[in-house]
Amino acid sequence: MLKMKDQSSEPEVTSKLVDEMIHSILFLGKIKNKPLCPKDIFDGVDDDNNHHLKEKYPNPFKFYSSQLPRRSPFSCMLDMIVHLKQQNDENGIKDELAEIISKLKDETRKHDKELSSTVLCVSHVNNTDSVKYYGVSMSTSGKKSGRIMIAASCLSFYWDEYVAGAVMTFYPDLMKKPYFDGTFNLSRDATCRAYNIKNKSEMKPCKSCSNLFGFQETDPKVWPYGNCAEVESLSKLFKNDDQVKQQSRPQSDTFTPDNIEKVKDETRKKLKEILNMTKFEKWSGEFYDPSVELTCREG
Ligand SMILES: [Zn+2]
Repeated sequence: MLKMKDQSSEPEVTSKLVDEMIHSILFLGKIKNKPLCPKDIFDGVDDDNNHHLKEKYPNPFKFYSSQLPRRSPFSCMLDMIVHLKQQNDENGIKDELAEIISKLKDETRKHDKELSSTVLCVSHVNNTDSVKYYGVSMSTSGKKSGRIMIAASCLSFYWDEYVAGAVMTFYPDLMKKPYFDGTFNLSRDATCRAYNIKNKSEMKPCKSCSNLFGFQETDPKVWPYGNCAEVESLSKLFKNDDQVKQQSRPQSDTFTPDNIEKVKDETRKKLKEILNMTKFEKWSGEFYDPSVELTCREG
């Protein structure tokens, strides 16, 4: 990420992605069963000018034990790659991701292979010149960290409201809420396809994604709701195209403002319970925002 950052003509954009990714990594280290401190993770990692990361990016180090990340580290990496390539250069983006995955694999052979995603999803409206939106699968390891990150992505508005509502319909288990159904059928005007990052082959959506988004042809595999690349990719599509979003609106009578508040409260409560099972004791209730200057945040 530090090397990629300097290839950009917009360093303010890429620095934020590095900043956000560092926070997300530090947080995931903190909540491990055997917690890792910043020194364990980043000791010896300097930028090109030999600045220690902490000098250059103080905020992640200051807030990793009080604020939650809005997304997993690899998601920041995806944004960096899309930023450096062209938004619609799907093949270039796939090539770059495959290369990074294989490099990460070489470097982490003897350690956990956590923090890298395995699936990329591409969504777009069905026009020849439509913009493509990308998502990656959750890059955490372990049940607790995945559940924490899914709730955080829902509650921090990182995911679009409809997508988050669909995911929270099932959160934190595979059981559908009796009082709320935020699932929807993706508009026929849009396409959503998933690919194995390593070999670039197309993958059928899993059963969970078909329950969330009404996909027809699916793989019987059931992943935790919110784990898959489709979620992030559709979320970006909806945030940028209100027409396709409204065409995909959840149809259940239970999709009401009151029930949306109720399911959010329940998700937040569950999130706190899971956080209490980790060494992350004192959530301020805030989500980390790399765009906020330190002075404002403390003020
Ligand atoms: Zn899925």
